[in-house]
Amino acid sequence: MIQIDDSGSGSLIGGTGIGILNTDTNEYYFDIIPLKYYQTELYQKKLYQDYVIEIVKKGFSKLNVTKKDTIQVCQSYVFDKLRHWLTDNEYNWSNAKIEGPLQYKVEESFTHYVINLGLPRDFVKHARFAFGFHRLLKWVFADKEKRKNLCKTQWKSWQKWGNKERSIYKNILTYPDYCLKCGKKIKPPQKVITIEYTTIKPATINLHPQCYSGELREFPPEFLREFSTIIKLRNLPENNEPQLFLKVLNNEVVVTSVQGEILGILDKPLSYKIAFWLNKGFVWQCYLKELSENQAKLNLKLIN
Ligand SMILES: [Zn+2]
Repeated sequence: MIQIDDSGSGSLIGGTGIGILNTDTNEYYFDIIPLKYYQTELYQKKLYQDYVIEIVKKGFSKLNVTKKDTIQVCQSYVFDKLRHWLTDNEYNWSNAKIEGPLQYKVEESFTHYVINLGLPRDFVKHARFAFGFHRLLKWVFADKEKRKNLCKTQWKSWQKWGNKERSIYKNILTYPDYCLKCGKKIKPPQKVITIEYTTIKPATINLHPQCYSGELREFPPEFLREFSTIIKLRNLPENNEPQLFLKVLNNEVVVTSVQGEILGILDKPLSYKIAFWLNKGFVWQCYLKELSENQAKLNLKLIN
């Protein structure tokens, strides 16, 4: 039997892989729908579906597939035009859910292909959901000018998130991480370039300073520009004053009243982030909401 399956049609990086297997002889054919089908007006015309037919013609010729062979085609939309072509050419085919050796082979081939494009082996080999959009976007954003050329840029999701503005600044890393440019470890404490942006949630990339060559954009990341947080109250504010102030004190950020009385402290991770930007001269408007006996909700908004 002949089976046809795809891999990578959902991967932001790279084209799409098409694999054909003769399950009797184990002969295998693999080819890629090139990236240009996902980066130009060819995409709107769905011409990748025509290219699939070209791949399958070559594969059939290599594997000596005849009209007597039984053919199973994966249900992916990638094969919509192929199905018509198979019918028009009187092949003996049906739709099927492809599992087993071909699925494994075609995924392996696609993984090999994206590693050749530059994705770190560890990044795709030992991860669940290795080809998740936001995961790959992170890798792209570590070297956007070069890596956007490897993306399916006609995708709606790229158009939605691909130009997301990023905060890019010099930082000292306090936890171990991997540099998504060179793929090597970063051991804390170490000087890094940090890139932060928000898509469905905030994301952080850390790079060796020598691994980043673009411009800096030293501005607090989106998730710090307007947000709420809960603080434990040490003192109740007098007069129920709504506007409070933030001050860096011993590397922590304290919330004070107009008179300078300390009312509470922001929690550690947040303190660390806000102190960094307060020390660079950024200022947050800070309002008290929902005051209870020992805690309060604060609304914070960056004003410069
Ligand atoms: Zn690096």
